[in-house]
Order: sequence, then C-alpha cells, then structure tokens
Amino acid sequence: MDKQLPGTLFLIVGPSGVGKGTVIAHLKKRRPEFDYPISATTRKPRAGEEDGVVYHFVDRDTFERMIEEGELLEYAIVHNKEYYGTLKTPILDALKEGRTVIREVDMQGCESIQEVLPEENVVSIFLTVPDKQDLIDRIQKRGKLPAEEIKRRMESAEKEFAKGGEVCNYQVPSLNNKVKECVDKVEAIINSEIHAEDTHDINGA
Ligand code: 5GP
Repeated sequence: MDKQLPGTLFLIVGPSGVGKGTVIAHLKKRRPEFDYPISATTRKPRAGEEDGVVYHFVDRDTFERMIEEGELLEYAIVHNKEYYGTLKTPILDALKEGRTVIREVDMQGCESIQEVLPEENVVSIFLTVPDKQDLIDRIQKRGKLPAEEIKRRMESAEKEFAKGGEVCNYQVPSLNNKVKECVDKVEAIINSEIHAEDTHDINGA
C-alpha cells in the first residue's frame, strides 16, 4: 500500500528495564542518518542524563500547556505517575521529508500513535524478555529505586507483555549480555522495512 507520508516512524516498545534506551543508543551510533527525536517528560533527570538528548525535562505546568497547545503527537501518564509525550513537529516534519525516525514509547504511546498516524508510516518493535525475574534484576541494577517504584514498573511491565504481541508489528528478544544480537535484529527489521518502501517509491530515491 502506498504511504501517506514518505518517511517511517519506528517505535521501540517494551517494559521498563528491557533495554530500549540501550538499543537506541547503539542504533544512533550505527545509523546516525536516522532521526532520534526527544520527548517531553515531567520525570526528573537521572544521574548523567542531560536535557535535550533523550528527553526535554519540563514541569507539570509546562507539560500541560504543551498538551493544550497541541504540541504533542501523543502523551501518556507512565507507571501511573509522570507525563511522557512525543513532540509533534519534529516527528511529522521528518516523516514529510521521507526520513527514518526512531523513538521509544510505552504501550499507550504506541497505541495512540497507531491511531493518529497512517498505518503504513508506523512500524512497532516490541522488545521482550523470557524471564520476568531478569527484568526485575535489570530494573534494580539501573539505580536504587524504592520498592514501591519497582512494583509500579513491574505492574506496567505485566500490562505491556500482555499486549506486546497483539499491538506491535515485530517482537525481538532482548537477552542479558546479548545487546549486539538484539540491535542486529532491530536494525535488520528497519532495513527490510525501508527497503520494502523503496520498491513503492516511484521516484526510485
Ligand atoms: P524512563 O523513565 O525509564 O525513561 O521511561 C519510562 C517509560 O516511558 C518507558 O516505557 C519509555 O518507553 C516511555 N516513554 C519514553 N518516552 C515516551 C513518550 O514520548 N511517550 C510515551 N507515551 N512514553 C514514553
């Protein structure tokens, strides 16, 4: 089917701790020609996180103003707590220019984007783990999160696992100590989707 916009948005989805950020960081190095738009969030930056790299860190008032002014493609309250939202202009502009855009979102964000963008312009990749204890270990390793926060993240994870197969186009295992294999698979999916698009491109570009 012909695409309504020339570019493609690849959504990287999966529970907290599954390695979405790591996969995207590797892709960014391998494929600097793709777009990696930042999102807005009300959560506080973690140690070492800089504003403007993965997120624009804003307060609640600013986020709510962004919602009112229609600046977000979608937004969600993640882990029942903080706002996260993709920025409309950078993503739509890139898609109009025929670019490949990569962004991680939670399951709610994935479903919202599937509703607002043409189906042919969105490819979702769910990163999954075979063992939930493995996920708990990874979440704990990330920093000293309070037990309540871990519980909240595991509850979100359960919901995401339940939906991953049905909502997303692809599922890729993200195994501990096997980051390269996971990135290879994600990159292969992106390449095959982009290549499939080329065959539809009447300009042959
Ligand atoms: P973290 O706080 O660990 O960076 O992210 C928490 C969750 O929010 C993750 O599942 C992440 O994928 C999701 N997330 C990050 N950016 C966005 C966004 O722009 N929109 C939505 N809906 N979720 C996001």
